[in-house]
Amino acid sequence: MILDLKELKKSGKVSETFFFEYFADKNLSGIPDTEIAGPVRVSGEIVLTGEHSANVSGEASFEIRGNCTRCLAQTVKQYVFEFSELCDEASDNPYPVVNDKIYLDKIIDDTVISDMPMTFLCREDCKGICAGCGVNLNESECKCK
Ligand SMILES: [Zn+2]
Ligand SMILES: [Zn+2]
Repeated sequence: MILDLKELKKSGKVSETFFFEYFADKNLSGIPDTEIAGPVRVSGEIVLTGEHSANVSGEASFEIRGNCTRCLAQTVKQYVFEFSELCDEASDNPYPVVNDKIYLDKIIDDTVISDMPMTFLCREDCKGICAGCGVNLNESECKCK
């Protein structure tokens, strides 16, 4: 998704909302045995802060499907991550404005990578699998002596 500052300025507005969907790299979550299922839905707002700069904010929501990190149960979870970045022409800006365009995919990808928890749990208090007897402790009692 590309946000075009030129179009926005031409319209005479200083801000605009946007919504789009895209298919991220399935492994973007970075958690083993999981993948992003379906499209990433992005909604947000772009606000001009200068001739060639703008603040881009909003949220990205998506589902992750995979095996619980602790008990390996098949799990589907919904995630929502918020982002807010000031994009300008500075050479050290990680999300620069290039030819009056902002490339939103990189902002979303980086947000997902930095905000994603390290574990993927079927529920917050998942008890996992006993290392001794191999029993799923969510479903039955440990059989170890
Ligand atoms: Zn679990
Ligand atoms: Zn056990």
